[in-house]
Amino acid sequence: REGRRPLIAGNWKMHMTHLEAIGLVQKLVFSLKERELDDAEVVVLPPFTALRSVQTLVTGDKLPVGYGAQDLSAHDSGAYTGEVSGAMLAALACGFVVVGHSERRALHGEDDATVAAKVQAALRHGLTPILCVGEGLDVRRAGQHVPHCTDQLDAALEGLSADQVRGVVLAYEPVWAIGTGEVATPEDAQEVCGALRSRLDGRFGPETASAVRILYGGSVKAANTAGILAGPDVDGALVGGASLDADEFAQICRIAA
Ligand code: PEP
Repeated sequence: REGRRPLIAGNWKMHMTHLEAIGLVQKLVFSLKERELDDAEVVVLPPFTALRSVQTLVTGDKLPVGYGAQDLSAHDSGAYTGEVSGAMLAALACGFVVVGHSERRALHGEDDATVAAKVQAALRHGLTPILCVGEGLDVRRAGQHVPHCTDQLDAALEGLSADQVRGVVLAYEPVWAIGTGEVATPEDAQEVCGALRSRLDGRFGPETASAVRILYGGSVKAANTAGILAGPDVDGALVGGASLDADEFAQICRIAA
């Protein structure tokens, strides 16, 4: 992996009150043995309402778990009722924020321009965007998954410098594999992650391409983690459902480390 540290990020989606979140993080930390995790970075992505509790827990005890949010506003402040800004997340010392998740694109009408604006908002506030791209089943069946994903990548990184792109994490999440139990094969994951890295190389140069971490996401479980992570361009996983089970998520983290 050319020195790229594996990253395992748990996307809790709209699960866990702040009280439940405290319990889950405590269980997770108990399940993770710090010494076994030297080689992997572990991040949880709770709902906004649990971020402060997770911050207090993780920072106070210096636990080996980072955290971030699942979305942010493209705007920095103002009359945007219901939105949460990058500045607010930075004030909670979030390290990461998911941008362009397929559920946001499909259910909340986020288009490529919105996703690009959110990537820029994250970078403006010192947050690492976890930028999601991925094709639906129709695109996959038509054999267009690689150009679909590289087009989404191009659109989301529009106007960024190579320096800025080095501050981004990518996640390849085929929509047909999210929450369906139908995991992509290791070859499928490697094919698209490799194509994304080649695209970064073409646009921003080899140094940037080899520095950026590219995750796979879609029905990752402990049982399929080793196979998925075997791809040379797959640097970790974005884990949905399995991140809500502390033991299962800890097991995935140990396999990655
Ligand atoms: C996700 O929502 O990012 C995801 C990968 O979900 P799941 O692991 O449940 O498929």
